Amino acid sequence: MTRRYNFCAGPASLPEPVLEIARDDMLDWHGTGLSLMEMSHRSPEVVGIVEHAEQTLRELLGIPDEYAVLFLQGGASTQFSAVPLNLLGDKGSADYANTGQWSKKAIAEGQRYCDVNVVASSQDTNFCTIPAQSDWTLGDDPAYLHYTPNETIGGVEFSWVPQTGVPIVADMSSTILSRPIRVEDFGVIYAGAQKNIGPAGLTLVIVRRDLFGSAHTLCPAMLNWQVAADNDSMYNTPPTFALYLADLVFSWVKDQGGLSAMETVNRRKAQKLYAAIDISSFYANPVELSSRSLMNIPFILADSNLDKLFLQESEAAGLLNLKGHRSVGGMRASLYNAVSEVAVDALVAFMQEFEQRNA
Ligand code: PMP
Repeated sequence: MTRRYNFCAGPASLPEPVLEIARDDMLDWHGTGLSLMEMSHRSPEVVGIVEHAEQTLRELLGIPDEYAVLFLQGGASTQFSAVPLNLLGDKGSADYANTGQWSKKAIAEGQRYCDVNVVASSQDTNFCTIPAQSDWTLGDDPAYLHYTPNETIGGVEFSWVPQTGVPIVADMSSTILSRPIRVEDFGVIYAGAQKNIGPAGLTLVIVRRDLFGSAHTLCPAMLNWQVAADNDSMYNTPPTFALYLADLVFSWVKDQGGLSAMETVNRRKAQKLYAAIDISSFYANPVELSSRSLMNIPFILADSNLDKLFLQESEAAGLLNLKGHRSVGGMRASLYNAVSEVAVDALVAFMQEFEQRNA
């Protein structure tokens, strides 16, 4: 068996030690004679795993007691609707920052439920910048402000948290657990799991409990955060196997030294790749320096006729999933937590060698 280096934007690389534990547990979880997948979600074993996952996550992110941790389904995309359905209350509008393709999707969904005030948009710079908050136009009486701290497709990332006096709602799908955050800065944090948390099929929502109680009467029970909290994320059958893997991933992150240690390695990885791109006229990254993402690094080749060859040869060299998003073209390397520094070194070495042969 040869494991390859996986730069996929999601579902993404998982830590190898986690996959090894899952393999060893597959047929008989801890002497129970059952696979974890075959157990009732209400069994003490599964309830214990979910409690442990929550506890470890609370430790990693420093989540205060006044925040509920919810493990849901439907992906981050379902939260695009759940956010307005839970938070609008009697307000008719919400603020949204538009910094890329995922912001746009959240905005489109928000518009079904309320007047969306776009506080700022970087669409005219092709989403290569983050507009400074001093240039934002805040709405009159918005229920909340929604933004996307890291845009997975464009590779732009906020290095600051907006301050607006209303609850801040952050789609952290592609940045969560990559570095420490101050949970207290946010009203709601949500994330699809399939980047830094675990496999697809699980969605994390962290919500300040005082925001409960405003859900729209038509909000489905399955999208109602308070219902999920009141039922310990077991209003219906949760994705038990994804939760088990997420629990293992959280423990792995803790073993690595937690989020500060993760950040140190992630910064080094990103810096190595950006340096390799910036030093060459063969490769380019279009994102303004101060808005560059730690996790998702798009880059183009000066001669796009070489794209196909680059992808063929990188794949043959064991470097997988470097094709850029279809809306952007070129290449993209996602450097989530489970992508090792060795993988990034191998990518950089390949890029330099490819350039020498083709420049
Ligand atoms: N938001 C961001 C920032 C994402 O990267 C993604 C998925 N790549 C989504 C939302 C959508 O997530 P899901 O597929 O879990 O609905």
